[in-house]
Amino acid sequence: MDSTIMDYNLNIRSIFWRIEKLYKDREIISRTYEGIVHYTYSDFALRVRKLATFLKTNGIAGEAVASIAWNTHRHLELYFAVPLLGGVLHTVNVRFHESEMDYVIKSMGDKAIFMDKDINYKNSTLPTFIFDERYDEDVNSQESTSDFPDVDERQGAIACFTSGTTGKPKGVIYSHRSVFIHSLSLLAADALGISSSDTVMPIVPMFHISAWDLPFSSLMTGAKLVLPGPRPKAEDIVKLIKEFKVTVGVGAPTVWIDVVNYVERENVDLPLKVVVTGGAEPPLGLIKKLKELGVKTYHAWGMTETEAIATVNKSDNIERMSEQGYPIPAFEIALMGPEGNELPWDGKSTGELVARGAFVTKKYLNDKSDAQTKWFRTGDVARINPDGSVKVIDRLKDLIKSGGEWISSVDLENAIMSYEKVLEAVVVGVKDERWGERPIALVVKKPGMDVNEYEIIEYLKSLNRFPKWWLPDKIIFVDSIPKTSTGKLDKKLVREQLRSMLEEKKY
Ligand code: ADP
Repeated sequence: MDSTIMDYNLNIRSIFWRIEKLYKDREIISRTYEGIVHYTYSDFALRVRKLATFLKTNGIAGEAVASIAWNTHRHLELYFAVPLLGGVLHTVNVRFHESEMDYVIKSMGDKAIFMDKDINYKNSTLPTFIFDERYDEDVNSQESTSDFPDVDERQGAIACFTSGTTGKPKGVIYSHRSVFIHSLSLLAADALGISSSDTVMPIVPMFHISAWDLPFSSLMTGAKLVLPGPRPKAEDIVKLIKEFKVTVGVGAPTVWIDVVNYVERENVDLPLKVVVTGGAEPPLGLIKKLKELGVKTYHAWGMTETEAIATVNKSDNIERMSEQGYPIPAFEIALMGPEGNELPWDGKSTGELVARGAFVTKKYLNDKSDAQTKWFRTGDVARINPDGSVKVIDRLKDLIKSGGEWISSVDLENAIMSYEKVLEAVVVGVKDERWGERPIALVVKKPGMDVNEYEIIEYLKSLNRFPKWWLPDKIIFVDSIPKTSTGKLDKKLVREQLRSMLEEKKY
């Protein structure tokens, strides 16, 4: 029997309606090279309507266009104007190499580029608009577009490429529907529970997985939005939190490690209510420190192919906070064994985490096949507890295989980082003739702390958690650990660096 309900597209227009009609006076704050911009949702909506006319005037309405930009109001305006006209905004990672930018822009078939003025990229064939005062004037001088089409919810709205940590970046196109449902799902009380009384600061970049959809989610519910702008450092972040009374800050664990370190060093407070962190497992020490500072941590898991956050853990039991948590609405999970068999949720069986749902990728850009698989394979190895909470053990490709047994690099890293004199640690496997692979750790000491290899190995032993053969063969002290464009430990680069260090026998 057919339903008797209206056809209603879950699209960006539907979010825009709320912005214009319900939350006129709510605010958006944006840190830019020219200073802080402070405007209301009404001002924002008018700019979006003018920008839409600008897109039409330049013959790029309804097309795919690229943005190479930080978290600012200008970028946010594109997030709406482009999909509202039926086009796709392709957010390009600002940290991509020029050749990768060429590659993704060509693959997407972008017709124009919008970028921040500090981005070092030239494209000889496409019109390029630089975010500066002239751009603002050009947009402001346009008439405002009065009507937007009712774009079909299955059309693309935002595109993003994976970081290319394994091979070439792969394109994913989020639909209007997936953006809408994911944003709504994030608002659920047991997910992030953001409301109109919150002030949200996404530090996760708008150039990667649309800042986990937080800009859409926040505006959908009338929250005050603080965009931290180009290259925000711990000091900038803390300043913005204080000045604009941010309640929810969203960023990778490395960002919060820096912030906590800054706060302790400068002896200042951190008047936040909630930290949402993910992209990598946050060390428990970080969650404890945040708690001491009066901040509650929400631990989230997700990936480019799940439109970012797909599970959330808000447990009050710190020991359980290393779990990635429960699936948010419209997202399903299962655990797959080596033969494609489903494994039980007993907190013991280990297999590949697979997923399906309203914001899960079915195939990559330019993949001509039309096969729809039942489950998307995440490439993460996990266990699922009987209550449905996921525990990710490692990425399949980062697990270290030593003497035929698996060692979790993440477990070792977090154990090393729980030592009071350590700021950061990364563990990777290096080739070993006898064992296949052996773990080696790179460690950054806390400023002013003196610590040696022996002390760390003794500390690991004292935890009584690891068999002897898990302990790293070598600990190398470094000044910093390379990070990916999204602030994660860049294990690919670490492996390359280690390989050349080993060849040159530098340690
Ligand atoms: P890339 O790292 O290439 O940019 P993604 O941003 O899509 O790609 O990263 C997704 C991966 O990051 C996941 O498959 C998982 O391995 C890891 N990840 C994300 N969140 C968490 C988390 N909370 N805990 C552990 N690993 C995580």
